[in-house]
Amino acid sequence: MTASAREFKQQADRLTRDLRHRGLIQTAMGKYEVVRDQTKAAFQDWGAARQRAAEIKWEAINHLDRYLVELVKNLEARGTKVHWASTGQQARDIILGILREKKARSVIKSKAMTSEEIHLNDALEQAGFGVVESDLGEFIVQLRKEPPCHIVFPAMHLTRGEISDLFEKELGSAPTQSPEELTMIARRVLREKYITADVGFTGANFAIAETGMISITENEGNARLTAALPKVMVTLLGIEKVLPRFEDLALFLPMLATMGTGQPLTCYNSFYGGPRQPGEPDGPEEYHVVLLDNRRTELLADAEKRDALHCIRCGACLNVCPIFRNVGGHTYGTTYSGPIGSVITPHLRGVQDWKHLSYASSLCGACTETCPVKIDLHHHLLQNRRDASKQQPSFFEQMAFRTFAFVVKRPAIYRLVKQVGRVLQRLHPLIKGTRLDPAYAWTRTRELPPIAPQTFKEYWRARQ
Ligand code: SF4
Repeated sequence: MTASAREFKQQADRLTRDLRHRGLIQTAMGKYEVVRDQTKAAFQDWGAARQRAAEIKWEAINHLDRYLVELVKNLEARGTKVHWASTGQQARDIILGILREKKARSVIKSKAMTSEEIHLNDALEQAGFGVVESDLGEFIVQLRKEPPCHIVFPAMHLTRGEISDLFEKELGSAPTQSPEELTMIARRVLREKYITADVGFTGANFAIAETGMISITENEGNARLTAALPKVMVTLLGIEKVLPRFEDLALFLPMLATMGTGQPLTCYNSFYGGPRQPGEPDGPEEYHVVLLDNRRTELLADAEKRDALHCIRCGACLNVCPIFRNVGGHTYGTTYSGPIGSVITPHLRGVQDWKHLSYASSLCGACTETCPVKIDLHHHLLQNRRDASKQQPSFFEQMAFRTFAFVVKRPAIYRLVKQVGRVLQRLHPLIKGTRLDPAYAWTRTRELPPIAPQTFKEYWRARQ
């Protein structure tokens, strides 16, 4: 078992027993489900909307070569400097290079999962730059020195009391249980940072090839301030964020808001097409866009699982996943958690090290059913399992299946094994759940299904 698999198991074991942690997730998800369903009902035909979204993403991903070139051409036409990063290391080097060239000292950031993916904050801090997250949830987890727990709700695992304690300790504020007051405390700290930051850093929700624009959707207005106040703006995005046309946003913006937070539309929707143009009153003097591959093209080359690149990071599959709802986001040990994280992480970070995530699924299919862009998530988990065992077959698994095949191909042996099994089954309670139990991994937490007292054949024979 790899270190990451062992850690996952230990964390999952601990957190499934932690009723407080589970309660926090269930409460947050319960509220989310109510508003999501209300907003979804406002769509005239949700099924048709999903189908259209899946088709648009299919078109974008299957013609990524063309749309990326179009995007870059249109971005550069308005003076944006576009950079290509094949790996996380390259992306970090590019961003550090920009900061050094601009003699920057501090960076204000708005929420960007791609920056988590390349561990940008650590790289910036190690290089001596000050970096502050401006999204409230991200600000909280940054103060706690931990990664986000969820791709949309980074601090969903914390109570108001815990946040108040954190602010008291780190910011010297007075204790409070009021969400408004907690927000105001963060706001006071952050306002100062916007004004003094040299560089504003953002992620992107979509990139429009037709117009060369980066679309950012948010609820706090922090991304707007991040983009508007510092002199230099840097946006990091995965190459899969491209949409062909501006009009596609008429579907994707409400869809992302509906499935992400249950809102008809998020509060602020901004588009960035370049640095401040002559006659414009605000905006950065310099705008850099970093396009990140980081093994996405390897996933693109895999025709079977390519549709995982359709993901718009709404988080809806996490919210319905029975595994995520019990173990939470940190247990996964990855940037992207839940079903989509389990599908793409083995591709982004190595199949053998992360294959265990494909087994962290009940295969109930709730993720596939909810995904607004119709990614076949639970089948991809099965395909990941298949690919991992093909790449590095497990000796025990092979032996188990060979033995099974040997037995079921020989009716006389099969009958014998069945009868012996029925006898041994009666003795099983003596060792059940102990280390002497050959089925310990299963019976430690579950019941072993009993062998039926009569097979169908025996029943049929008796009936005659
Ligand atoms: S896989 Fe689908 S449901 Fe999950 S985050 Fe991506 S778009 Fe949302």
